[in-house]
Amino acid sequence: MSVEVSEELRGPLVDTHGRVHRDLRISLTDVCNLRCTYCMPAEGVPWLARENILTTDELVRVAEIAAALGIVEVRLTGGEPLLRPDAVDVVARMAAIEGESGPLEVSMTTNALRLPTLAGPLKEAGLSRLNISLDTLDREVFKDLTRRDRFDDTLAGIEAAIEQGFAPIKLNTVAMRGVNDGEMTALLHFAVEKGLELRFIEQMPLDAGHIWSRPEMVTGEEILDALGKEFTLTEVAGRGAAPAERFLVDGGPRTVGVIRSVTRPFCGACDRVRLTADGQLRNCLFARTESDLAGLMRGGGSDDDIARLMHTCIAGKLPGHGIDEPGFLQPDRPMSAIGG
Ligand code: SAM
Ligand code: SF4
Repeated sequence: MSVEVSEELRGPLVDTHGRVHRDLRISLTDVCNLRCTYCMPAEGVPWLARENILTTDELVRVAEIAAALGIVEVRLTGGEPLLRPDAVDVVARMAAIEGESGPLEVSMTTNALRLPTLAGPLKEAGLSRLNISLDTLDREVFKDLTRRDRFDDTLAGIEAAIEQGFAPIKLNTVAMRGVNDGEMTALLHFAVEKGLELRFIEQMPLDAGHIWSRPEMVTGEEILDALGKEFTLTEVAGRGAAPAERFLVDGGPRTVGVIRSVTRPFCGACDRVRLTADGQLRNCLFARTESDLAGLMRGGGSDDDIARLMHTCIAGKLPGHGIDEPGFLQPDRPMSAIGG
């Protein structure tokens, strides 16, 4: 497949606040083999209609057009991206797309459950980086938190990723009061021993059950205080558009990150745009509106039409998500249906 985007539409996806968008997050599916409380309800998930899920050809077409508009990294997510039967093929095809300065960098965020069988094929297909979610080292807490008894499979998945030589491997941990907030230092010891980069994430209001509560949320400051009791943390300068503030652990070389999406939003440097599994383009995780790329593609839209819609979507991006402000409204879709 080779797309044709007119010269006047090529060039960067810039919003009205001057932010240039380089990072496209694509949700490969909304389904998942876990039911993390901060993300999905226990039962009764309103799944997307299967016929509305973008095909691999459609995904590749969007990524090729995005590459012509300055996107350099594609992060595959979900739901659980590895539940998509052709996930490895998607990686291979995305990794073969030429961007502005070479092939697109393709990364993935996964819960690791399917990595024991797929880590090797993913590496071979050209996946460059992996982010793995791990919220606890306690089997019972894992079972309660994810509503599935799959702790050992997660650990096996992490080992498989290490064996395949993915580097860096980042671990994502959502901090939750009364659930895993007593495990911050244990998780960091685990990550340091395994050579992984741990990042703590402030919980955001993106759960289907609307259980998020600002006063209950564990803040980045609390996380750093807890870590500071056992480790010496030295801030690493030069964060760029990265969401994580990074700290050297005991002088390095290992680092730990804190993503303070709520208490210290990084919207001013945001370079991300998202595509849901059913082909809706979102200029922010918390956007209240979407641009219907799927409808445009399936209605016979040209590559230029799609490029134009991407520019318009980005141009309408608000300066910030406003989570910590009065009047904030949670998006209608949960995280699993947007793509984290
Ligand atoms: N299933 C994969 C996984 O869990 O890694 C990929 C999709 S998941 C939605 C992507 C990331 O979003 C995970 O690291 C998860 O911890 C994070 N996440 C989900 N809900 C969140 C919330 N309410 N606040 C903060 N992070 C959240
Ligand atoms: Fe599934 Fe990831 Fe959401 Fe957990 S965070 S329910 S693993 S999509």
